[in-house]
Amino acid sequence: ILSSILPAPEDPVLSLIFGFRDDPSPVKLNLGAGAYRTEEGKPLVLDVVRRAEQHLANDLSKNKEYPPFSGLPDFNILSAKLILGDDSLALKEKRVVTVQCLSGTGSLRVGAEFLAKHNQQLTVFLPIPTWENHLSIFTMAGLSVNHFRYYDPKSRGLDFKGLLEDLGSAPSGAIVVLQACGHNPTGVDPTLEQWEHIRQIVRSKGLLPFFDSAYQGFASGSLDLDAQAVRMFVADGGECLIAQSYSKNLGLYGERIGALNIVCESENVARIVESQVILVVRPMYLCPPIHGASIVTTILKDSDMYKDWTIELKGMADRIISMRQQLYEAIKARGTPGDWSHIVKHIGMFTFTGLNEEQVRFIAKEYHIYMTYDGRISMASLSSNTVPQLADAIHAAVTR
Ligand code: PMP
Repeated sequence: ILSSILPAPEDPVLSLIFGFRDDPSPVKLNLGAGAYRTEEGKPLVLDVVRRAEQHLANDLSKNKEYPPFSGLPDFNILSAKLILGDDSLALKEKRVVTVQCLSGTGSLRVGAEFLAKHNQQLTVFLPIPTWENHLSIFTMAGLSVNHFRYYDPKSRGLDFKGLLEDLGSAPSGAIVVLQACGHNPTGVDPTLEQWEHIRQIVRSKGLLPFFDSAYQGFASGSLDLDAQAVRMFVADGGECLIAQSYSKNLGLYGERIGALNIVCESENVARIVESQVILVVRPMYLCPPIHGASIVTTILKDSDMYKDWTIELKGMADRIISMRQQLYEAIKARGTPGDWSHIVKHIGMFTFTGLNEEQVRFIAKEYHIYMTYDGRISMASLSSNTVPQLADAIHAAVTR
């Protein structure tokens, strides 16, 4: 039976990883991975995470019992406050359902499964382009995927007009996936004023916003600033879903910790929605794992640890912002043709360089630098040492 199964189509990200792995060059550099690296090119475990883990290890009152289906209650409350704000009216009115999930991906998938079962309109609109996994997550959940214009390759910025036109012609009740900040893969976020226009069109058309918040605090360095778009939508009293991740902002990638928040119109609706979300969770994995949730809860509960987290988080965001500046200046210093200011205008972990597939392949072959074929680079994988290597490579690719 199993021998008749065909292999899965080649994954472009994996072929990039294999290319990098098999390259014997000592100066090879992987800018494809979406994970933070230090100036030394190493993965980072935050000090505050180490402290929280020590605290948990010493707490003999803790056990390994199953948590509730919806996860650790304190984790859920604190997570909802983190994204919605301490003074959120929706929280005060108990209109928010929060379910601990397997990081951002798991939160998106649980939300998608829930919507596939209960939303009247089964079409979901994704930005062009978006994180490539969005397509599979929503398709596998049984929703039909449509798209709206987002990135303008000419300006290397937002195609705001196209976005408004496309959302303006979406059918009422359709789901719209919006990245809360630090858009992956483009690095292009709407301004607050543009968000307000997006909110108006989403609400006037009766669309259901589903925020993917994978980078809160990681884009600007401030947890509150990076939550502004989400909070703007929640403040109008309408419904929305928010998938939250602690992979990037707490560096908890492998712990798979995040949450799905569903903001409802009343407490009554919220209780009903919660009962149905649990029916999605139970047959899939019964209940979520407790370790990552315990780390997050420990940090969010303790004001000293929380403060230390915000400092470490800002340190990561600032290092990324400084890489943008350094790369931009290095390219300018080489007199590379073209306008490269988008590198400093973009925000978050990623930048769409504007390099085409042929240039990406050239850079991998000649300069041993690997990025996705759409020209996306992770700024978080660059360092002061590797910026000149990348600037040389870009210059050579553009001028050849
Ligand atoms: N959404 C976006 C936009 C992402 O870039 C990522 C990670 N690359 C995720 C969600 C999911 O990450 P995780 O499951 O680790 O939270």
